Amino acid sequence: MIRVVASGAAGRMGQAVCEAVEGAGDMELVARADPALGVELTETLAGADVVVDFTTPETALANARAALEAGVHAVVGTTGFDLEQLREAAESAGAGANCLVAPNFAIGAVLLMEAAQRIARHMPECEIVELHHEKKLDAPSGTAKRTAELIREAGGNVHEPIHSVRLPGFVAHQEVVFGGEGQTLSVRHDSIDRRSFMPGVLLAVRMVGDRPEPITVGLENLL
Ligand code: NAP
Repeated sequence: MIRVVASGAAGRMGQAVCEAVEGAGDMELVARADPALGVELTETLAGADVVVDFTTPETALANARAALEAGVHAVVGTTGFDLEQLREAAESAGAGANCLVAPNFAIGAVLLMEAAQRIARHMPECEIVELHHEKKLDAPSGTAKRTAELIREAGGNVHEPIHSVRLPGFVAHQEVVFGGEGQTLSVRHDSIDRRSFMPGVLLAVRMVGDRPEPITVGLENLL
């Protein structure tokens, strides 16, 4: 059994993580850490194998660092913080634990990024529109920033700015619109339920301990 701590357990994503871990036959939810529950993450690390963090941009880095320094693997879904600092933390922790961080754990969003890279090689000019619920703290989304990075690596020209829509009714959505001579091509992904992220999160929990590097960025590396 993989012993899992949910960090941010009282949040929207954290609650979905708890439900998914409890439903997985090979995992045990050993603790729910969240200020709203009066439980500090550091209190829960003894006896844990993996921490899954869906918290806030201000706390994710410190949480991951605490886990890694305690020798506990970290699966980080929180967005909006400096990835380079997480990389440094993972590489210097020295306790044999790995970190897997992904801006989007939904398979459809990963496939959108792959498709966008392929399209960009032929139709480089594009714009990104991302749409999320009104409580999302960061803009543009981590998924949009990662998509832009991947499109640029493939030779595409992502126009600035990335367009961020924050409204009630949305969960997590992204469209990339490519424009060429006399034609456009749009690819769009919609997460309409937070359960869309859970197969990717569970896969990450199962695989993070076997990663060859201290830090892995992106779910695509596990597929
Ligand atoms: P949320 O509902 O605000 O949940 C965050 C929770 O974390 C809150 O309950 C918060 O408690 C708690 N928290 C704050 N500081 C903490 C700490 N030091 N230790 C433990 N828990 C702490 O937010 P959400 O909608 O679930 O989103 C969480 C993050 O996941 C965001 O960054 C979002 O962008 C990201 N996200 C990622 C993916 C993906 O696939 N990678 C998908 C969806 C969302 P308080 O309210 O008391 O501060």
